[in-house]
Amino acid sequence: MSKDAVYDVIIVGAAAAGLTAALYAARQGMKTLVVSKDLGGQALLTNHIQNYPGYDTVDGFSLVSKFAEQAKGFGAEIHLEEAKELKDEDGIFTVKTPTREFTSHTLILAFGKTPRDLGVTGEDEYKGKGLSFCATCDGPLYRGRTVAVVGTAEYAADAALLLSDLAGKVYLIFNRSKMAVDEATLADLQSRSNITQIPNSKVTAVQGGLTVETIKVRDESSKTETVYPVDGVFVEQGYIAKTDLAQGLVALNERREIISDKEGRTSHPGIFAAGDVTDIPFKQIVVSAGQGCVAALSAYNYLQQKRGKALIRGDWKRRK
Ligand SMILES: Cc1cc2nc3c(=O)[nH]c(=O)nc-3n(C[C@H](O)[C@H](O)[C@H](O)COP(=O)(O)OP(=O)(O)OC[C@H]3O[C@@H](n4cnc5c(N)ncnc54)[C@H](O)[C@@H]3O)c2cc1C
Repeated sequence: MSKDAVYDVIIVGAAAAGLTAALYAARQGMKTLVVSKDLGGQALLTNHIQNYPGYDTVDGFSLVSKFAEQAKGFGAEIHLEEAKELKDEDGIFTVKTPTREFTSHTLILAFGKTPRDLGVTGEDEYKGKGLSFCATCDGPLYRGRTVAVVGTAEYAADAALLLSDLAGKVYLIFNRSKMAVDEATLADLQSRSNITQIPNSKVTAVQGGLTVETIKVRDESSKTETVYPVDGVFVEQGYIAKTDLAQGLVALNERREIISDKEGRTSHPGIFAAGDVTDIPFKQIVVSAGQGCVAALSAYNYLQQKRGKALIRGDWKRRK
């Protein structure tokens, strides 16, 4: 494992929050590294963003690609790998990935939200081999084929409707007597001849060879299990903050989101947070980007203060 020089800031997550933080940090002259599983995060899952200022409509990939280019233009480095461990050793932070170990004087946690897992046998094995968390991204691969969508609310309904236009057959599996969506959506689901709704049911296993071939579904009312042949499974159960990585390092709320204040500070000095991973109520790209800016400028001021140098804002010193 190689060790690099100590960065001024390491940002975990390269999406709206993390890339904006990188842009601001690098532009302030901070030695900046972004460590991320992917480039773009949840924005990659949509082709129609209509509420990012300055654009009538933009697809997520184009928008976050611009964020990344701008951050790199100011000197931010990006390392694409999952952060597996975060540590504070006497005020120097370590971010460990499977192949590298990076150190920094400050950390910005911007690792967003992650799709809620099924938590069943075969799920990990078939991720990317027939099991997907994004109907928008992977739906076109299942043209004319048989797929299952798992979930009870809007995400699952939207996925089933989208897939019904592409796939030959769609099983919609949910653990309630009816889908938790509005009447218009319910009617739309019912009008689709290739959607079969399977209520009061849970997927208990995903099975196959090289790719998914079947799923086991348990009917919670009759307690019986049925095996359905499928080519793809779409897990559409919404998103959660997976903050195990930061557990014990920063305070979390009851939804396991990172608690951060108006200046992006967490409970741990030197660690800042931004975007969907935090306890901010509105999870939107523009909000994540704004918080990324705040976290970066706060990290900058934190370091400047430690080094006895000038702060960006005159009122910083007056606040406690
Ligand atoms: C289908 C869909 C459509 C949407 N449409 C809109 C819309 O039209 N307008 C709008 O404003 N918002 C929309 N949103 C919400 C918006 O995408 C999010 O609010 C925004 O992406 C949050 O950005 P973020 O940077 O906080 O986190 P995320 O986008 O969740 O990104 C988190 C980043 O952290 C990385 N990461 C996670 N864990 C680790 C780890 N352990 N190590 C390293 N990296 C890690 C991820 O790979 C990712 O790059 C939509 C969301 C979805 C799912």
